[in-house]
Amino acid sequence: MEVLLIDLDCTLYAPDNPIFRMMGVRITDYIQTVLKISRTEASYIRDRYWKEYGLTLIGLIRNHSIDPEDFLHYVHDVDIEKHIQPNPKFAKNLKQIPLKKILFTNSCGYYANKVLAALGMVNCFESLIIDIRQMQFFPKPHPKAYEILLNQFKLTGNQCIMIDDSLDNLRTAMTFGMQTIWVGKGMCPKDIDAHSEEPDEIAGQVRRLIGTS
Ligand SMILES: [Mg+2]
Repeated sequence: MEVLLIDLDCTLYAPDNPIFRMMGVRITDYIQTVLKISRTEASYIRDRYWKEYGLTLIGLIRNHSIDPEDFLHYVHDVDIEKHIQPNPKFAKNLKQIPLKKILFTNSCGYYANKVLAALGMVNCFESLIIDIRQMQFFPKPHPKAYEILLNQFKLTGNQCIMIDDSLDNLRTAMTFGMQTIWVGKGMCPKDIDAHSEEPDEIAGQVRRLIGTS
């Protein structure tokens, strides 16, 4: 095992953080303004594209030719420092894991760097960030996103452990032979290799999986 692929939103910070909801509201705002439709229609389109394409942005690009940079900038313009506090213990535990760590996120690098900075985790990741642009706008759980990452770092799936709050994302990881850690509350499905209820417990689960606990 050589590499940890770690998701950002709702994986490195808890899903009840207001930042995630705030970005959702901004996505609806954006759709309403750009497509000049009602709030209700904008909400409906947001949900429909999310289900259909795995990421609302992709539906907007395909069906409405919106500028992805404009969208990414608008949606991620939230007060990160106000809502995400440093988590030095988690950062220390993560950094000590003797594996290369790659941030693998459907968001954009600009936002990801700001969240990592707010968490105090920038130096955990050796600047290795794969974002939606590098995935050529194929979001997780699309297999193409994983292929791009593996090719870029000259890795095979069985060299990787993937950590994510989305079971769909982890199930694609399995098809590449990756091991999986699910971050979330509730019953962990049997096909997942390890489970962390809270983001802070991720490092412990990784250590158990790689046998250094
Ligand atoms: Mg996530």
